[in-house]
Amino acid sequence: MKKPSPKRRPRRRALTGAALAAHAGEIERNLVGLYPDAHCELDFRSPFELLCATILSAQCTDKRVNMVTPVLFERWPDARALAAASQEDVEEVIRSTGFFRSKAKSLIGMARALVASHAGNVPADMDALTALPGVGRKTANVLLGNAFQQNEGIVVDTHVARLAARFGLTTETDPVRIEQALMPLFERAGWARLSHLLIWHGRRVCDARKPRCAECTLATICPSAAA
Ligand code: SF4
Repeated sequence: MKKPSPKRRPRRRALTGAALAAHAGEIERNLVGLYPDAHCELDFRSPFELLCATILSAQCTDKRVNMVTPVLFERWPDARALAAASQEDVEEVIRSTGFFRSKAKSLIGMARALVASHAGNVPADMDALTALPGVGRKTANVLLGNAFQQNEGIVVDTHVARLAARFGLTTETDPVRIEQALMPLFERAGWARLSHLLIWHGRRVCDARKPRCAECTLATICPSAAA
């Protein structure tokens, strides 16, 4: 027999304006209390390493990426080395991260573009970053927020998108529109940390398929909490 799905509270009317901003602030304060040390879980020692790791993290866990990158950086420690690598050699090293052909192409293309246009350095600029092969706004936000301490935007990955919806912060579904909806609700200085807070809660409690509402300390303020 099909198991009944857990009852969810009737949805409150969507908050707007100052009430929505206050709700966002309460969520952020609670998450900071829960995860005071929330940070990027990809291992890196330089902007170049974070850029490679972020490209590899598409459709792959950070844990898996962190197993692969030490080998990648040992063989190709900087953009000049990676720009000269063969597609086959890079594919072999990154195979376990999935989508390895397109990721190898992006890594080599990105490295060649860094050498050609930025003297082998990673630019700390949104437009220059998003002009690199394999780098979209999400990846650029990861770089700017974590390697350059610039809060240019908010990283919207699958966890951030899901939690923003569950917390009733936005009804948008497109990542760029979600980012635009979140930015006015949170202090700019905390944008990079906000992504980590939402990602950490998404990974540890607010699972995509089975959110653990009974254990969630934010259930009293979450409009999507199971009753
Ligand atoms: S109460 Fe449930 S839906 Fe809301 S954040 Fe917590 S786990 Fe997610």
